[in-house]
Amino acid sequence: MGKEKKTNTNIFNYPFSCLFFNNIFPTNYFKSYSLSKLKTFSTQVDKIIYKDGKVISCFNYEKRNKTIVVLQFKNIIGVTDILLENPISFNIFYSPDLQLDYYNAYKDTAYNIIPSWFDIKFECSCGSDYLNPCWHIAGTFMRLLYEIDKDIKILFKIQGVDLSKIIERENNVNKLLNSIKNNSNNQSSSL
Ligand SMILES: [Zn+2]
Repeated sequence: MGKEKKTNTNIFNYPFSCLFFNNIFPTNYFKSYSLSKLKTFSTQVDKIIYKDGKVISCFNYEKRNKTIVVLQFKNIIGVTDILLENPISFNIFYSPDLQLDYYNAYKDTAYNIIPSWFDIKFECSCGSDYLNPCWHIAGTFMRLLYEIDKDIKILFKIQGVDLSKIIERENNVNKLLNSIKNNSNNQSSSL
């Protein structure tokens, strides 16, 4: 019953966000935080940035008593090669089915894209410790999950996966498709 109150049904659109949520919140560390509290905490984050493999969030950004949380994830650089091997890997950012396929194929390997709680380093300027993470840390995770659900690419980027070649390849494919479309339009209009 206690676990069920933090169910992620209807919170997230994508399997990757749900799986990540499940790795973070049904743990004892956050047992005192209900889902509605987590949602409220996430709205308290004024600013979230991704820099040098870290996620940095800021509470009370404009004020003197601001609080800063830093999350740091393990690098899974080899995932870039796996994505490049697959010609349709770009679709993983939008396809729930592809996300589940990827997860099932790699969940027990070093290429698992869903971070484990124990692989994440974090600190909060309020001084809470690992065994007793504060609501700022809970709020930062929750805000990050919402951001990832809006753009799954963030989940890869924060773990050091270079997506530039995959995005470039997708852009090239789209350019090619557009030029084919334009050509056939021109041909039909000249008929
Ligand atoms: Zn804190």
